[in-house]
Amino acid sequence: MSDILKTDIQYLSGVGPKRADLLRKELQIKCFEDLLYYFPYKYVDRTKFYTIREINSTLPYIQIKGRITGFKTAGYKRNKRLVADFTDDTGTIELVWFRGIQWIKESIKTGKEYVVFGKPGIFNNRINVIHPEIEAQETLKSKINAPLQSFYNTSETLKRSYLNSKAIQKLLNNLLQQIEGKIRETMPSYMIKELKLLSLNEALLNIHFPKNPTILKKAEFRLKFEELFYIQLNLFKQKKTRSKEFTGHIFSTVGNNFNTFYHKHLPFKLTSAQKRVLKEIRQDTGSGKHMNRLLQGDVGCGKTLVALMSMLIGLDNGFQSCMMAPTEILAKQHFHTLTKMLGNMDIRIALLTGSTKQSERKVLFKELKEGTLNILVGTHALIEEVVKFHNLGLVVIDEQHRFGVAQRAKLWKKNKQPPHILVMTATPIPRTLAMTLYGDLEISVIDELPPGRKPVITAHYYDSKRLRLFGFLRKQIKKGQQIYIVYPLIQESEKMDYKDLEDGYEGIVREFPPPEYAVSVVHGRMKSEEKDISMRYFVKGQTHIMIATTVIEIGVDIPNASVMVIESAERFGLSQLHQLRGRVGRGADQSYCILMTSMKLTYEARKRIETMVETNDGFEIAEVDLKLRGPGDLEGTQQSGIAFSLKIANLGKDGQILQYARDRAEEIIENDPDLNKPDNLILVSQLQKLRKENIDWSSIS
Ligand code: ADP
Ligand code: MG
Repeated sequence: MSDILKTDIQYLSGVGPKRADLLRKELQIKCFEDLLYYFPYKYVDRTKFYTIREINSTLPYIQIKGRITGFKTAGYKRNKRLVADFTDDTGTIELVWFRGIQWIKESIKTGKEYVVFGKPGIFNNRINVIHPEIEAQETLKSKINAPLQSFYNTSETLKRSYLNSKAIQKLLNNLLQQIEGKIRETMPSYMIKELKLLSLNEALLNIHFPKNPTILKKAEFRLKFEELFYIQLNLFKQKKTRSKEFTGHIFSTVGNNFNTFYHKHLPFKLTSAQKRVLKEIRQDTGSGKHMNRLLQGDVGCGKTLVALMSMLIGLDNGFQSCMMAPTEILAKQHFHTLTKMLGNMDIRIALLTGSTKQSERKVLFKELKEGTLNILVGTHALIEEVVKFHNLGLVVIDEQHRFGVAQRAKLWKKNKQPPHILVMTATPIPRTLAMTLYGDLEISVIDELPPGRKPVITAHYYDSKRLRLFGFLRKQIKKGQQIYIVYPLIQESEKMDYKDLEDGYEGIVREFPPPEYAVSVVHGRMKSEEKDISMRYFVKGQTHIMIATTVIEIGVDIPNASVMVIESAERFGLSQLHQLRGRVGRGADQSYCILMTSMKLTYEARKRIETMVETNDGFEIAEVDLKLRGPGDLEGTQQSGIAFSLKIANLGKDGQILQYARDRAEEIIENDPDLNKPDNLILVSQLQKLRKENIDWSSIS
């Protein structure tokens, strides 16, 4: 059956090849359906009229009735404009046109009553409206004009070709006429009835041309619900399928390796959160089900240890494990930490990164295949085809969001029977996002820091207070503390960033000259060995200050470093700031995080800095981040694409609808795991359609 909604957009009346090209390029609108699902970003109440006296330039828009008393042209060349005085009984404002002057002059008459609509501004102390919508009073009345006017995002290019919001609205009007009666329902009728949803047809009509605010709310709800519901249904369905297809390796016993480590090597007591999570992992891996678990916990809460102990359980049951980290520095650090913790235990552990030598690789691969190698730590190099395990039982992935979902999937394929997967992330993810991105994973949380940690004290200094900063740093160094100073690194302006870092370095060395002080530098342009050397000096306490770009961002653990200075902190995102702050506060001493910024801060930047100063709670920070940036910008969501591709639901605001949709989806899968019931057939076909259209969905499975 051919679907009218898939019709090329150029065949919509009012479009044609040229406009179609623009719509495709600028808004990715290729067919009728794309336009139908191109939703307004706001609605304006067109029943409200202002008098001119009430108007000021801060109003978002105004609608006024009145008459034009006269025209004049002003300015030359590019500044040439037509200006009209527009009057009602209470005052006069100016209407201004830069384009289409001739047409306005010919079609708009002085003395006649018009309705003017637009955004008020101010020029030469007079209120004006530039390029207003203007319509004769009587034609306005005769139009079937919705009381709520929808507004659509466009682009400058589109506007230049007269495809502004109003024009898009007109196209939608044409479209809805052309496809009348042909919009097929996408939800089962029993759900529509039970949940009191609008039909799809009514929802789409009212989202574009709302009859009143109440029905608009219902239309929004229906469309948001549907969008979130299908994502959740997809997740639950896949989880069900997986649990049927795959059985997990069974780690039935806790044996020698675990017990020896626990009783003889563990240098401290586990926190109760760590114990709880270990129990959760044991339940999964011992039950014959396949574990797919996300472990969330703030930086420094001790996730690595939990990972190690899980790997030991695997080993006790005859399985190999691997642990994958996003950077070489971090992989090395994990390798050293684990090696040190295991001490003299008879466990063979190795490191594999991009720079592992060929000769070493050979040995390593052999041992891996024979099963004599127990634990392999590494970077992305672990996913490569050539890396073959004897019997991989558990994969630990550290700092999840550096790994795409697709990479996770690759690991699956390493064995006939997929290994258990434990994904660890130190950037807490707001609940709504976790439900959407990782809705197919079980979630464990470590919500407790090891005892004796003092919360990091965070302060905000303007650049002008630099002298005070230096004084403070000197005092800390005198107390035997080490200091990080971090510079932002943003790809587009890489050169400038290195200049910042170099200038910063010179400044610091001037303030902290040798031989009294020693300074290390680490940045992305250095060779791996150079970085290592520099890091090692700092780790050993031979340098006082480490100047770095964000390469040190994740995971590095140096307990003696207790001060984190972040330069140009306004240029960092919240989760990055939080990550960086997590580098300090690992030892017993009071730690500090100092955010340096310029005086001029945008609203968002100020809010980020304030949030950092106010709280150390990663979840709270993640919520603020989600609200400030929207899910599309949050780290990790790009790879997944799901949160990004939402057309109407907003994970920052629609948490309740999401939970509701998730519960409904879960119910349905519980009652009808294969979606075989006739009533649910529509769900199956809709899921298939969405999977086909959305590459990101399919890569999860
Ligand atoms: P994460 O990876 O969660 O950021 P780590 O696993 O690197 O945290 O742990 C941070 C530090 O805390 C490490 O030095 C680790 O040895 C230590 N640590 C972990 N668990 C405990 C505990 N229960 N008690 C005391 N210290 C701990
Ligand atoms: Mg870590």
